[in-house]
Amino acid sequence: MNDMNISPDILAALAPSELAMVPFVSVQDMMRLVHREGIENVLRDMAEHIEADFRRWPDFDKTPRIASHSREGVIELMPTADAELYGFKYVNGHPKNTKTGHQTVTAFGVLSSVGNGYPLLLTEMTLLTALRTAATSALVGRRLMPEGADTMAMIGNGAQCEFQAMAFRALAGISRLRLYDIDGKATAKAAANLRAQGFEIVACGTAEEAVEGAQVITTCTADKQQATILTDNKVGAGVHINAIGGDCPGKTELHRDILHRASIFVEYPEQTRIEGEIQQLAADHPVTEFWQVLEGTAEGRTDPREITLFDSVGFAIEDFSALRYVLGRVRAGAPHVKLDMLADPDDPRDLFGMLERSKGRG
Ligand code: NAD
Repeated sequence: MNDMNISPDILAALAPSELAMVPFVSVQDMMRLVHREGIENVLRDMAEHIEADFRRWPDFDKTPRIASHSREGVIELMPTADAELYGFKYVNGHPKNTKTGHQTVTAFGVLSSVGNGYPLLLTEMTLLTALRTAATSALVGRRLMPEGADTMAMIGNGAQCEFQAMAFRALAGISRLRLYDIDGKATAKAAANLRAQGFEIVACGTAEEAVEGAQVITTCTADKQQATILTDNKVGAGVHINAIGGDCPGKTELHRDILHRASIFVEYPEQTRIEGEIQQLAADHPVTEFWQVLEGTAEGRTDPREITLFDSVGFAIEDFSALRYVLGRVRAGAPHVKLDMLADPDDPRDLFGMLERSKGRG
């Protein structure tokens, strides 16, 4: 039926029941979406969505994420909204999970209409988080890394690693990788996956060896402590550090002396000061909000010998952009199912009557 032939009244009557069936993107659907589009296109498109949303930063409701900490890890809710859409992600971080065959990070999320509060999308976000984190890192890296950089050290070769590498190639031209993980099996896994994608790979025995000759250093380790993955003397002038693993109170990766030598770029300072590498510094230590670099109201790298550091913790607007991207693909026909998730009584005030009438219907 052509929408043009339906009177506005009928359309209005149809809308609630249509809205009651919520598109759901499963893990299987997300994998199909990525294969259909091509992972590099997904990363580039997602980075475009993130850049567009970062460039209208003042339009968003912002709050540091709501975290519930335990000895083993953290469970977090990450909400944000603009005038039209509201999004949130549920995400955990449990560094010991891999020992029992579980993932460190899993997630799902929702995007809703601000106008009537109805969810428009429910989706897996474990893969989506890896994609959006990588897209954000590469978007930032492209602005801050030294000109002509082609080599990246990657310390921590777990779930996020390959996504980061793919995004840095798709957006920023990185083609050589120097890998290191305390667990050689993780490095062997990442090396095999990334060689198959055409990267030039050097597997390294130490973090010191990994950073030799690299213009970009990505740290994506998981450990619920103030670890020192990189000490100051390992970091030469002019590099860009993409530090994504330190993202909780009491969980950092870099020695604080590195922070004192670096120009530090963050997502949302109110959250990063609690969770990022800069939790090691005074509360008034200067940092630059990356959205301002995109907007041209703050400077990025100004000197080839400068050390730039993206102190990434992951902010809700990146998830909002990723959800917005997925909703766009779903509306363009990407795989999904419709979930009967919202009660839809004929008379919106007769929820009880709907329940009663359903008796005996199985
Ligand atoms: P993962 O557990 O799959 O991988 C982590 C890897 O780090 C493991 O292979 C482990 O052996 C290695 N590792 C631990 N300590 C190390 C050390 N001292 N030196 C070298 N390697 C070490 O976890 P993941 O899903 O890849 O996530 C990595 C980290 O990134 C987590 O802390 C997670 O919370 C964080 N993260 C951040 C963002 C963000 O937006 N900033 C997004 C997703 C994940």
